[in-house]
Amino acid sequence: MSLQSKTALVTGSTSGIGLAIAKALAGAGANVVLNGFGKPDAIEAARAGIESEFGVKAHYSGADMTKPEEIAAMVAEAERAFGAVDILVNNAGIQFVSAIEEFPLEKWDQIIAINLSSAFHTMRAAIPGMKTKGWGRIINTASAHSLVASPYKSAYVAAKHGIAGLTKTAALELAAHKITVNCISPGYVWTPLVEAQIPDTMKARGLTKEQVIDEVLLKAQPTKEFVTVEQVGALAAFLCTDAASQITGANLPVDGGWTAQ
Ligand code: NAD
Repeated sequence: MSLQSKTALVTGSTSGIGLAIAKALAGAGANVVLNGFGKPDAIEAARAGIESEFGVKAHYSGADMTKPEEIAAMVAEAERAFGAVDILVNNAGIQFVSAIEEFPLEKWDQIIAINLSSAFHTMRAAIPGMKTKGWGRIINTASAHSLVASPYKSAYVAAKHGIAGLTKTAALELAAHKITVNCISPGYVWTPLVEAQIPDTMKARGLTKEQVIDEVLLKAQPTKEFVTVEQVGALAAFLCTDAASQITGANLPVDGGWTAQ
């Protein structure tokens, strides 16, 4: 199905999985609103690249997902620019690895704000417009950590289990409005987020980089391969099709068999 008349807002899409989801949706014809941090030149290159590669319009919002008022303004601006936010992808996320008793308070608050609360704020702002149009797709990037836990990731695991619950609640509230709400739960995807946590995991567990990759990261994935960002993007695009209109409230693992264990 073509998403040609649709607009997608993807949080945390200046990098990694979010950027791949934005490209997959643009590839299906949707205009996109990018969001996230990074070097201005790199963000502008990504934005302009999407416009030229896919022939769609791409905007950028620098809204900080820890700030509810910036989130509301981002959704309002997207609706003003494109007439609607038809597809909302809550993807922004950060990680911090530490034992609970040493976990910095500000890191706990930041992870809960970005990885969980921001999805509540975007949905709160975007749902009225979706209801008016009688169509919508909300996709939350959760994680295998929305289904199972790992040590030293208390805030992340709590936030991801939270987003799985928020997804189910929103799906029930919106089921009769032709708005589906699902989460995609990747296992380990090779992105800056995964690369960046390797030094802390080395420290927390006293391991080398190779040991972290083999014994911690890919240990969990029976396929022994990282998931690709394109694979996650393709599933997000599928969830926006008519074929997926009866998939709602689901938590879809893309994890090489991790959570089957
Ligand atoms: P990434 O670091 O490549 O991208 C994270 C994005 O979030 C970036 O665009 C960044 O600028 C943005 N961001 C961070 N803080 C923000 C803030 N305060 N406001 C706005 N944007 C902010 O990471 P990724 O691996 O692509 O992760 C994307 C999502 O996928 C996250 O929710 C993550 O938890 C989830 N995830 C990742 C993996 C993995 O293995 N990489 C696995 C499962 C789930």
